[in-house]
Amino acid sequence: MALKTKKEKDFSEWFTEIVSERGAKLADVRYGVQGFVVHRPWAVKIIRIFEKLIEDAVEKDGYEPILLPILVPKKNIEKEKEHVQFAPELFWVEKMGNSKLDEPLFMRPTGESQIYPMYGLWIRSYKDLPFKKYQSRISVYRAEHTTRPFLRGREFLFFETHAVFESHEGVLKRVEKDMKICNEVIRKQLGVPFLFFKRPEWDKFAGAVDTFAADALMPDGKVNQIASTHDLGQKFAKAYDIQFLDKKEKKQYGWQTTFGPGIWRIMAALIGIHGDNNGLVLPFDIAPVQIVIVPVFFDENKKLVDKKCKKLEKNLSEKFRVKYDNSENTAGWKYNEWEMLGAPMRIEVGPKEIKEKSLTLTRRDTKQKTKVPEKSLQKEIEKIAKDILKNITKKAESWQASNIREAKTYDELKKILSTYRGFARASFCSVEKDGLACADRVQAETEGGKVRGTLFDKAEKPFGKCIVCGKTAKYVVYVAKSY
Ligand SMILES: [Zn+2]
Repeated sequence: MALKTKKEKDFSEWFTEIVSERGAKLADVRYGVQGFVVHRPWAVKIIRIFEKLIEDAVEKDGYEPILLPILVPKKNIEKEKEHVQFAPELFWVEKMGNSKLDEPLFMRPTGESQIYPMYGLWIRSYKDLPFKKYQSRISVYRAEHTTRPFLRGREFLFFETHAVFESHEGVLKRVEKDMKICNEVIRKQLGVPFLFFKRPEWDKFAGAVDTFAADALMPDGKVNQIASTHDLGQKFAKAYDIQFLDKKEKKQYGWQTTFGPGIWRIMAALIGIHGDNNGLVLPFDIAPVQIVIVPVFFDENKKLVDKKCKKLEKNLSEKFRVKYDNSENTAGWKYNEWEMLGAPMRIEVGPKEIKEKSLTLTRRDTKQKTKVPEKSLQKEIEKIAKDILKNITKKAESWQASNIREAKTYDELKKILSTYRGFARASFCSVEKDGLACADRVQAETEGGKVRGTLFDKAEKPFGKCIVCGKTAKYVVYVAKSY
């Protein structure tokens, strides 16, 4: 009952299959509106678990939750000139019942245009700062051309933090903290590695002073931007009139940041990077069902086994998310099904196990079986849980590392992007406006290879002239194809 498509043969088709009815039943694209997908229970449960981790992390950093309406008045988008860039992507509501609305409303494409007018009303004094709110478990709407569950949608799940500081210094510290949250949650708890970049001047968020982003490498060698954080300077504060009285009673514009871990994109990374040809592979802490108990019996000992399984489920449930699968399906069918869903551990219980007072534990990532004496079961589960995360993280990290290749010549760069994909590391003239011509040439001549930026947390010395124009290189950039 493995997936029909082999991941290593055709990742794109494998991804479509694992998401669908034939796979782990995560999303359904048969809703009837392109780009609007139905999230099925297993996906919702997984997402809620890691979304909560991010919520906890930002709340620990002092953010409070807010929820704004889905519709935004037309005048809001006109306040910020550069943000009007979103205009061609908007969905509009123009009627209420049978009557035409006086002012058309658009469905939020992201939160700035709806949140910042409110910040303008709420923030009064330096004593209100830093002002930190976040919005989660919402959707945003964009008129995208191509769509794909968890990668690109016309409606997709969204998470955004918005902070206002007294000075630019607050902003810069915040960017570092946002990167730390990505590290703590996405890398350490989900086992998904990424590189954190400062984006080039030409690839910034509309209206931002600087954009920073985390790129995870998918198994087909294309990068998936899983989070971004923006230094907005005072631009939006000026557009939306977010002012505060400083200590000298003087009016000042706030300095702002916004951070967006991409809920869908993180889900895509979790599916794509850890999954295998038998289905999902989930870290123990992220799995909606961490341990599944499967009874193995013959008619004469059914009652005995059932009783044992129930007891085991009750005991283990005190510490873990446990499911006793007592459905009518055969044991073999259950094994396959729970493997497909990525349940990290399986315990088989039969008359033999009851008699020997030991249980067979099978872990999902390596399929390794361990015989465990009943009395040390909990300890063993905890040990294996840690080892699963360690193992899948290591696998993902080493795969990422082996897909960062140094390009010394332009031909090498082209070869890397066409043969292996992944990241090509190269010396580059400029990540300011004057580097755009070189970046455009790369994109045109490598079928979409984009300059993702310079590493945020590590200053790197160029190892040659600009790989495109041959002028003096000031930066080391990473080039990759992307989703
Ligand atoms: Zn150049």
